[in-house]
Amino acid sequence: MHTPLCRHARGEPVDYARRALQAGLTEIGFSDHSPMQRDDFDDWRMFDRQLNEYVEKVRKAQRDVPQLTIRLALEVDYLPGQEEWIRDLASRHPWDYFIGSVHYVSDTWAVDSPNKLSEWKHRDTYEVWAVYFERLTQAAESGFFEIIGHTDLPKKFGHRPTRDCTPLYERFLAAAKKRNCAIELNTAGLRKDCKEIYPSRQILEIAYRHGVPITFGSDAHAPEEVGMNFTDAIQLARSVGYTHCRRLARGGFDVVSL
Ligand SMILES: [Zn+2]
Ligand SMILES: [Zn+2]
Repeated sequence: MHTPLCRHARGEPVDYARRALQAGLTEIGFSDHSPMQRDDFDDWRMFDRQLNEYVEKVRKAQRDVPQLTIRLALEVDYLPGQEEWIRDLASRHPWDYFIGSVHYVSDTWAVDSPNKLSEWKHRDTYEVWAVYFERLTQAAESGFFEIIGHTDLPKKFGHRPTRDCTPLYERFLAAAKKRNCAIELNTAGLRKDCKEIYPSRQILEIAYRHGVPITFGSDAHAPEEVGMNFTDAIQLARSVGYTHCRRLARGGFDVVSL
C-alpha cells in the first residue's frame, strides 16, 4: 500500500489502517515506491530526503491503530546496475520486507505509465514482455526481495503478446523458487484495463508447480482500495491448488493457511 509521498496516492497511512479494520483485516503492510538515487529520475515516487518522513507516517499509524499489525516495507524498483542503491536503502531502516518490482524496461519507459502509452505503438509487444521478464528474473536472482510485485504488469493496458510466453514465466519462477521469493496476488489489475489480477492464472499455475510461495496485496493508492477483491484473489489461489500463503515480518515469515 502507498502514501501521498509517492505523488499519485491519497490518504494517510492511518486512514488506510482504519479502513483495514473495517474490512476485517488483521495485518497490513505499507510498501510505497522507493526513492531513486536521482530525485529527478521520474515524478511518481517520494524524494530521497522524504524516506524518514515515510517511516514516521507508518510508525504513526502503528501507534494510532494498535489493534492492527502494520508492517514497514518498500516497493523497490529493480533496474540493472542499481544494486548498490538498493543495498543502501535496505540499511537505512528496519524494513519488514522489500517488494521488488519492475516498471522500467529501459531507463526512460515504465510500461505501466499512462503518459507513455504511445511507446507501445513503436515496440513489438512480445519483445517488451521478454525484456520485462528478463529484468524480473534478475530481480528475483538479486536476493534483495522477499516478494516480487505484480508479475505480469505489462498486461495493464491490455497489451498481450500473441507468441507463447511460457518459457519466460518458467525461467522467472524457477529463479523465484531458488531465491525463496514469494510472488504477490495483486488485485489492482482488476481495477485496470486488463481487468485481471496480477498474475494471470497461467503464471500462477506454473508458480504453484514450482512451489513458489504467495502473498496478497491490494496495491491500494487510496484508503477505500485496502483489501479490495481479496475474496477473488483467495479463490484464484485456491483454485490452482494453493492452501497457504506467506506472512512476512523482519527477518522471516510465517506460513498461514488460506
Ligand atoms: Zn503507485
Ligand atoms: Zn508497482
